[in-house]
Amino acid sequence: MRDGTIVVAGASLAGLRGAEALRRGGFSGRLVLVGDEPHLPYDRPPLSKHVLTGEVAAGATTLPGVGALDAEWRLGIPAAGLDRAGRVLLLADGTRLPFDRLLIATGARARPWPQADEARLAGVHTLRSRDDAAALAAGLAARPGRVLILGAGFIGGEVASSIHALRLPVTVVDPEPAPLARALGSVLGGFMAGRMEVAGVDLRPGTRVARLEGDGAGRVRSAHLAEGGTIEADLVVVALGAVRNTGWLAGSGLAADEGGLSCDGACRALDEAGRPDEAIFAAGDVARFPHPLYGGRPVALEHWGNAVAQGAHAARAMLDGPDAAGAYAELPTFWSSQFGLNIKSLGLAEGADAVAIVQGDPGTGRFLAVYGREGRTIAAVAVNAGRWLPAYEAPIREGAPFPPITGGADQPAPAPVPPGLPSMQAA
Ligand SMILES: Cc1cc2nc3c(=O)[nH]c(=O)nc-3n(C[C@H](O)[C@H](O)[C@H](O)COP(=O)(O)OP(=O)(O)OC[C@H]3O[C@@H](n4cnc5c(N)ncnc54)[C@H](O)[C@@H]3O)c2cc1C
Repeated sequence: MRDGTIVVAGASLAGLRGAEALRRGGFSGRLVLVGDEPHLPYDRPPLSKHVLTGEVAAGATTLPGVGALDAEWRLGIPAAGLDRAGRVLLLADGTRLPFDRLLIATGARARPWPQADEARLAGVHTLRSRDDAAALAAGLAARPGRVLILGAGFIGGEVASSIHALRLPVTVVDPEPAPLARALGSVLGGFMAGRMEVAGVDLRPGTRVARLEGDGAGRVRSAHLAEGGTIEADLVVVALGAVRNTGWLAGSGLAADEGGLSCDGACRALDEAGRPDEAIFAAGDVARFPHPLYGGRPVALEHWGNAVAQGAHAARAMLDGPDAAGAYAELPTFWSSQFGLNIKSLGLAEGADAVAIVQGDPGTGRFLAVYGREGRTIAAVAVNAGRWLPAYEAPIREGAPFPPITGGADQPAPAPVPPGLPSMQAA
């Protein structure tokens, strides 16, 4: 298919990269991008890093390449429904957009604090959008006396690092035993905890906040802990993970829930009976797809690199058909920078039953850890050691025996230990 109308719902990274790949692949028809945010596509990784430290303005994060796309932009208007039989996307302002192919790239939003009245208190923030980052940066510029972060995952850790760089006191609470434990396990999490504590962060692992309290004038004042006790805070960042933006698909018959929109290896959206819809595709954070490297287990990633690669893969499948595109099998990659550490990962550690430090030494702050499952290599994480990481791509792809590479001059004899990951849940 090279002509007709392609509509993209979600005007961010996956939607933009998908649209660019359509044009590159020779699509000369009508291309419409629909976004509920008023902004042209922008980059989110700087929002928790340089935007909060004031080095980059929130408005200076627009993605390169936006201007060159010959497309119609419908910004500030959410997609509100989908008529699959009629092949029409319904917008919240009543517009009906007929399509020959639809790419769903509506991503995810920050999981809100569960008590809505407490979430509305002044000084309580979440972080997903450019506007969220601008509001949080303004709150930090007012030099709050005590900042509290709920959640020690990647976003919580990066925000804590930025706040530390601003020389503001910060407390981080998380029910897990260590930062990043859910994604990387408590062995690497223990290393991160050490870095945070050396930096002066008041880290409270194994701690759960039960409720937030206002000061009577509608501003947050403190957090009450489930275990008893309170933490004073005049700015709170809720960093409890993400929820996929699939609510607007209710009633469409597609297999979608808070965990994502199910699709097949060619990025075709699946209906509730598991059948692919030939005209509707998904990519990026919203997509839940079977990953061939992980036994076809459905995974939904929140990785920048996945949004780019999967957007392009969906475009290829739209233009040339699912057989030509083949099954999407990009190796998951992720990076994070916090507390002077550059963390890069390949593969998915989830489900690992062992981890081993195979190069470097956590004591020096520079090392590489490999994760294994049932004697096979499934993931690797480099800390300030990104140049060592590419050597592990082939062992992960091939499921090489774990641990994969041993005996190098700079490699300690690996001593695998349980990684301290939570038990795996179905996606
Ligand atoms: C603060 C932050 C820091 C990050 N840092 C890193 C990092 O260091 N490394 C890394 O690998 N990844 C990082 N990520 C993750 C990365 O940014 C995401 O994986 C990426 O943005 C996913 O792109 P996407 O286009 O799939 O979804 P999104 O970027 O979520 O975009 C989806 C778009 O669709 C819009 N939308 C939602 N519903 C509708 C609707 N009904 N109609 C129309 N539009 C709709 C949304 O508002 C949004 O604009 C970070 C994310 C955040 C939030």
